[in-house]
Amino acid sequence: MKLSRLLTASTAVLALLVVGMLAHITRDAWRRYEATDTGLQALRLTQRAMVAAEKLSFERGPVNAVLGEREPADPARREGLLRARAATDLALLQLERELQIDLGAPRPVEMAPLYRALAAARGTIDQLAASPPAARTPEQLTEAVNQMFALVPLAQDAVTGYTFASERAYPRISRTLIKARYAVELREYAGRLGSVLTVPLAMRRPLELEQYEQLQTLRGRIAQLRQQIQRLGGDNAATLAPVIARMDEVFFGAGLRLVTEIEQASRDGRDYGMDTGQFAQRYVPTMTPILALRDELLGEAQAQAQRDHEHARRELIIACLSGVAILLALTLLMLIVRRRVILPLLRATRAVIRLGDGDYSRDPGGMQRRDEIGDMLRALSTLRTNSIERQQLEMERQHLIEELRRRADTDYLTGILNRRAFTKAGNQRLRRAHEQDESLSVLLFDIDHFKSVNDTHGHEAGDQVLIQVAAVVRDQLRDGGILARHGGEEFVVMPSHCTQEQACLLAERLRQAIADTSLTLADGHILRVTASFGVASASGPQAALDDLLHAADLALYRAKRKGRNRVESAS
Ligand code: GH3
Ligand code: MG
Ligand code: MG
Repeated sequence: MKLSRLLTASTAVLALLVVGMLAHITRDAWRRYEATDTGLQALRLTQRAMVAAEKLSFERGPVNAVLGEREPADPARREGLLRARAATDLALLQLERELQIDLGAPRPVEMAPLYRALAAARGTIDQLAASPPAARTPEQLTEAVNQMFALVPLAQDAVTGYTFASERAYPRISRTLIKARYAVELREYAGRLGSVLTVPLAMRRPLELEQYEQLQTLRGRIAQLRQQIQRLGGDNAATLAPVIARMDEVFFGAGLRLVTEIEQASRDGRDYGMDTGQFAQRYVPTMTPILALRDELLGEAQAQAQRDHEHARRELIIACLSGVAILLALTLLMLIVRRRVILPLLRATRAVIRLGDGDYSRDPGGMQRRDEIGDMLRALSTLRTNSIERQQLEMERQHLIEELRRRADTDYLTGILNRRAFTKAGNQRLRRAHEQDESLSVLLFDIDHFKSVNDTHGHEAGDQVLIQVAAVVRDQLRDGGILARHGGEEFVVMPSHCTQEQACLLAERLRQAIADTSLTLADGHILRVTASFGVASASGPQAALDDLLHAADLALYRAKRKGRNRVESAS
């Protein structure tokens, strides 16, 4: 796999893994954020349910006051009852509105039975309140009070149900919520404790045995709830301590003392010195610290949920931002690796391949880099420079070899082939002529009386004559004939495939050309020379070059003898 593709593939895999991991973290953070949001909503719902339960308990106070009145239709007491009912209705309405939220679970408690029971109880109470106080029997009063009591379990069900829903949605606040629920129950039992005294106070008669027992039971339950609140402990114990102390002082002190006083008066057969309304006026305020405790607990739960909500929101933002940052960093890293490692490596690879192919035209570049790749590119550049130098040396060497070869084959004076080169080329031609069954001829010529040229004009002039004769003959030979200096003032010509007849014609033409040419010497003298020609031809199998030359030499010798400046051919 190529490096660039490997990088792309590994980047893709890495990016996929990182995106997966980030998605997981972000989804977790989002879930926590949503849970705290749901928790906050559930908490509001719980608070509404607790307030509704409290208002229902509270409504019993004005009911007792109205039903226990001595004068018929006391307007102040009726107004108090109406206000209490309005407060209950408002609390129920607010609870109902909060119920619209979705806790992710079916509605834990149905409210319809509570509404029905509440309407029935209020009907009974209104009926009884319409009759004169003296006509109200203890049974009727007990029935009305019991109907109001019967609402309490329904309301408690709602509180418990919504508290559980809150705890499920947001378990962190469950301990605080349990305590708040105990406070709500405590308020309810405290209310009941007061209600036990309603009928005896209204009828101005002593408590019955059953009522003493009820008081005992309720006191036990109240003490138990008080202990449970304390036992739960928790990290909010310090902030709760003053609120609990206030409750201990006011309700568990003054409130319970008032109940005990009335109980004692009943046992002693003394007058109570107060009616239900006056009792309520003194007793009901002692329960306020219980509600304060409840509200303190709810407030704490709310604050905790709010803090967690904020924390979850921050974590969500951090998760999102760090996810984006990680992806950006990864992309940047990959781009840097690609730009600083992969691409230079590719460039270096191409440069190495070019060097291997002997192409030194381009420099690999990138030598200003300070890293390892820069080292490699610099080394490649040095390699290229060395290679270029070596290539030039090699070319010079080849050139020298060519020159030496050429010189070895060339006659130093005339510039035409020497005898050695002629022997080589002549043998080749002879072989080819045999193969292709062609005839081949050799012309040998010798300058006449050359010795006298030397003697008359000097050796130097003789050299010039040799040079110019060679030039004249070379000019005459166009279609591939070989001309060589055979030695001294003797030359040899081998035309490309020609018969003896054609060779003789050529020899004649050359002889004529030499004879016709005026040779100008260095000292200004003009000279004419002639040459004698011997022609020999080979056709048929295996004529050796030496034999051919020998035959031509014999013919040349004949031409000399016959008077020179003539052509003789071998027979
Ligand atoms: P012939 O007509 O019989 O050929 O007479 P010739 O004088 O040409 O023949 P000969 O063989 O007697 O003399 C050849 C002369 O050519 C002898 C030699 O000094 C001269 N010679 C050979 N090579 C050179 C050369 O390279 N330069 C010069 N200047 N003279 C040369
Ligand atoms: Mg000679
Ligand atoms: Mg001669």
